[in-house]
Amino acid sequence: MFGLSSQTVAVYRRLLGYLEPAHWRVLGAASAASVVYAGVGVLVPQIMAEITEGFGTPNRTLAEAIIVPIIIVAALVVRGIVDFLIVYGMSWVGRAVVRDVRSQLFDHYLGLPARFYDANSTGLLISKLTYNTEQVADATSNAVVVLVRDSLTILGSLLWMVYKSPTLMLLVVVVVPSVGFVINAMSRGLRRYSERIQSSMGDVTRVTEQSLQGQRVVKIFGGQKQETEQFDEINRRNFRMNMRLIAVRAGGDSLSQAVVVVGVAAVVFVASWVLPDVTASLFVGFTTAMGMVVAPFRRLVNINAVWQRGVAAADSLFATLDEPVENDSGVKTLGRARGDVEYRNVSFAYDPAKGNVFQNLSLAVPAGTSVALVGQSGSGKSTLVSLLPRFYDADSGSVLLDGADVRDYKLRDLRRQISLVSQDVVLFDDTIANNIAYGSLAERSREEIERAAEAAYVTEFAAGLPNGLDTRVGERGALLSGGQRQRVAIARALLKDAPVLILDEATSALDTESERRIQSALARLMQGRTTLVIAHRLSTIERADRIVVMRDGAIVETGNHEQLLERRGYYSSLHSLQFTS
Ligand code: ADP
Ligand code: MG
Repeated sequence: MFGLSSQTVAVYRRLLGYLEPAHWRVLGAASAASVVYAGVGVLVPQIMAEITEGFGTPNRTLAEAIIVPIIIVAALVVRGIVDFLIVYGMSWVGRAVVRDVRSQLFDHYLGLPARFYDANSTGLLISKLTYNTEQVADATSNAVVVLVRDSLTILGSLLWMVYKSPTLMLLVVVVVPSVGFVINAMSRGLRRYSERIQSSMGDVTRVTEQSLQGQRVVKIFGGQKQETEQFDEINRRNFRMNMRLIAVRAGGDSLSQAVVVVGVAAVVFVASWVLPDVTASLFVGFTTAMGMVVAPFRRLVNINAVWQRGVAAADSLFATLDEPVENDSGVKTLGRARGDVEYRNVSFAYDPAKGNVFQNLSLAVPAGTSVALVGQSGSGKSTLVSLLPRFYDADSGSVLLDGADVRDYKLRDLRRQISLVSQDVVLFDDTIANNIAYGSLAERSREEIERAAEAAYVTEFAAGLPNGLDTRVGERGALLSGGQRQRVAIARALLKDAPVLILDEATSALDTESERRIQSALARLMQGRTTLVIAHRLSTIERADRIVVMRDGAIVETGNHEQLLERRGYYSSLHSLQFTS
């Protein structure tokens, strides 16, 4: 009745795989408590039957009169305590599982390749981590409680009925499968809509995130209407899906309740007409027992929705967890590289259908030298440098560091050799100092951090901030200017002191004046390192040992500044277009 397709079973299995021995013990204890709960529940119709019988007996002693109320109070207190233990224990297990799945997912996200992020919006990924895991939590805590506790309660009541009157009980048994049938039809609908709700929640997050991040663009270009309309449409879709889900759930709920009521009516009829020997006390006990079945049954029906949603959510979480992480099969270790970089016949495509970005590209950058990549935007400069730290892997040919394919190194060792300062600097919501000493640099001494900050002209602006280097930069570094962010990123690269340096438009947000001052810092940063620099400012390019001119993913010219200008080729035309005002 819970839609046991093979896929569903696989999801259950996998969720069970998260249970540790301690979880099993708690689940066992909670199940045992559920048996107690159901057992106490059986007492209720029995007590009701006995009270009814007692009304016929005159001249009772005080002791006889008080025993039943005492039992009633005691039973309810026990039931209350046991219920607390069941709910707490089972929820603890469910929450613990979700906590683990969530951590695992977060971990997994960080290991996924750049390609995955190209194809999946962060909104969707965030909603998976928050919304989907929450639904799994619902299904694995509430649903399990209801499933175990309420099924046992129903079972207990049925057993009591069988014991008292098998004939009457048979009627109930006729009712149950009819309700089961209704539930089954419902669960298919529930599942379909809960999947759609999940995807529409992802849309809600995605669009919100985009609009909020781009709020300045939205304001200046008057995009409110467009953004609102887009959001409304998605929000309405979410509403429609939710309403359909609710309709299926509520309709099924009423329907199953109606079936139960018909069952009760049948019992009343059979008891009074077909079976005239049914006593008043038996009849009261029976209707009490049936009444006690209805609430758990309704909960079971409702919980089915939660359960189905949880399964759909878990299924999509597992699908993401099964996404392959970055390929890290290299075994070569590397302490500190000399820094020989070579691209050998490299071909690469983001999407084979859209054609190659590079075709058999070759380029050698000897250790300690610098190469400036020049070319129009879209010519493939950023893509070329992103192959070196293996954000993407070449489709054919190879990228070599110190003569060995980058794929042969352990990923950690490879990336330790490379510093990167890119156009869009990513800062974390932390202090300037902690942003400079980020990640593996966290161990560096305060002196080293200060020296890097000084050299990258961070100190210059940090001195004017309330807490100097210990000033927080806000989300994504929003409290700093673009140029200040880039200086922090340069300080970070200085501190890392890696043999290979990638500067991808690292100074694009600096004004000419700041850049001139930071040139010496950059020059110092480039000294003795293999540097791949993408820049459109003449000053940075001139300084490079060699200039490589790219056009549509191919290297069309190389040489130093003077040689290239003399050739009067593509570089010189780019140069006159871009660098002269
Ligand atoms: P440049 O840095 O020289 O401006 P890029 O290397 O960023 O150029 O881009 C080269 C080509 O690859 C462009 O046609 C661009 O549209 C495409 N491209 C860049 N990044 C991606 C990506 N993540 N997914 C698909 N295509 C991309
Ligand atoms: Mg670029």
